[in-house]
Amino acid sequence: MKLTIGHLYPDMLNLYGDRGNIRCFQKRLEWRGIEAELKYFLSGETVDFSGLDLVLLGGGSDREQELVCRYLKQEKHGFQDYVESGGTMLAVCGGYQLLGKYYKTDRTMIEGLDILDIYTEWDAKRLTGNIILQSSLSKAPVVGFENHGGRTYIGDYSPFGKVVFGYGNTEEAGWEGVIYKNVIGSYLHGPLLPKNPEICDDLLGKALTHKYGEDVSLPPLSDELEHEANRFMADRLMNAKKQS
Ligand code: GLN
Repeated sequence: MKLTIGHLYPDMLNLYGDRGNIRCFQKRLEWRGIEAELKYFLSGETVDFSGLDLVLLGGGSDREQELVCRYLKQEKHGFQDYVESGGTMLAVCGGYQLLGKYYKTDRTMIEGLDILDIYTEWDAKRLTGNIILQSSLSKAPVVGFENHGGRTYIGDYSPFGKVVFGYGNTEEAGWEGVIYKNVIGSYLHGPLLPKNPEICDDLLGKALTHKYGEDVSLPPLSDELEHEANRFMADRLMNAKKQS
């Protein structure tokens, strides 16, 4: 078995180690004897979504996001077909916002790709810090780091998780991210997947199942260190919450 992983515009969208998500995909496939081919698409290059099984769209500044959005609009149909036909993707922060109808900042209106019926509006108070979620995709708490000015309104879509500590999509709603078909959109940088291996395996399992047309279950890995790191962070933040 083999998965082809596309990293979209890492020269523009690669904040806080988003690239670590790619390393995590590769390693967890390799440890199970599954081949991983990596394709980078840099600014201005054409993305052939039909050859991809798994896509990472990272986060960036408002300015970089605006540029990337221009490139992606030229690829919109391929991108939309990829998502609608069950292609697997992780879109982080700026990348997550771009999937929606628009991102309105203090100085401009960035028209999004309109792949999901969600939208984002900027506010002067940045939502920054560590975050913990409870997600249906992971038994362990999902831990990460968020830093965004945008507030994302997801309407009736399912969120990625319920905020246990931190801010999430908006400060008030109590939810974080979005799940649509085999796409996860999330504000969690940090990077998300090495800290939360169950989420990585969920995406890998979906990509393999979609490609090979049968329910592919991944053999478990020991993940002792990963679980210890996850627990350490979750305990630290929950203790801080109790004391505040
Ligand atoms: N520019 C966006 C915001 O501030 C996304 C930032 C990011 O990707 N960290 O909301």
